[in-house]
Amino acid sequence: MGRIGIFGGSFDPVHSGHLAIAREAVARLRLERLWFVPAKVSPLKRGAMEASDEDRLAMLRLATRNEMRFGVSDCELRRGGVSFTVETLRRWKELRHRDDLFFVAGMDSLLSLWRWRNPLEITSLCRFVTFRRPGSAITPTPEDLHLPAHTARALLADIIDAPMLDVSASQVRERLARGMDAAPFLDEAVLRYIKARKLYLI
Ligand code: ATP
Repeated sequence: MGRIGIFGGSFDPVHSGHLAIAREAVARLRLERLWFVPAKVSPLKRGAMEASDEDRLAMLRLATRNEMRFGVSDCELRRGGVSFTVETLRRWKELRHRDDLFFVAGMDSLLSLWRWRNPLEITSLCRFVTFRRPGSAITPTPEDLHLPAHTARALLADIIDAPMLDVSASQVRERLARGMDAAPFLDEAVLRYIKARKLYLI
């Protein structure tokens, strides 16, 4: 039985904000392993991916290469179709039912959780742990989560105040498209990969 983190997202591309919360999650939740799980199609951002599945996966592998506790899973890419977190968690539990699962997310994900498929089943399969993002300094109220009160209270109790990095993948893509320096927000090997493959140039 292990303490396993699952970090879902588009990772288009993976940036320093993702890596910072992943490191915090491993340390604070005492995770044995944290799996980055790139979505094939994000249910709430359909059609929005810019880099291919292979490129997003390759960038994740580069960004996580030096961290023993980080792993990259292509399970949602292989499953195909829209990537519903509940299906990923169910599958994990089928294969390793004794693991304690922690889903790692940013505040925007917590605030939209009620629109995800089967949010209550998600919260029964894992502990949904939220990291603040810049611009989300105010703690939401239980009503803001649009979920049953006891679930909302448990989710709010699992918000972690960690050092926040003001970066998003959209900002990084925009900088790259404009030819601006994105080095402060990217792992150096990821930046080299993006340049070599000429990604995000519009
Ligand atoms: P985009 O700008 O394209 O919407 P993103 O930067 O939000 O992308 P995602 O891959 O969609 O990146 O995010 C995956 C998860 O990481 C989400 O739960 C998101 O809230 C969280 N996250 C991303 N950036 C940060 C950050 N700077 N601080 C805290 N959480 C973050």
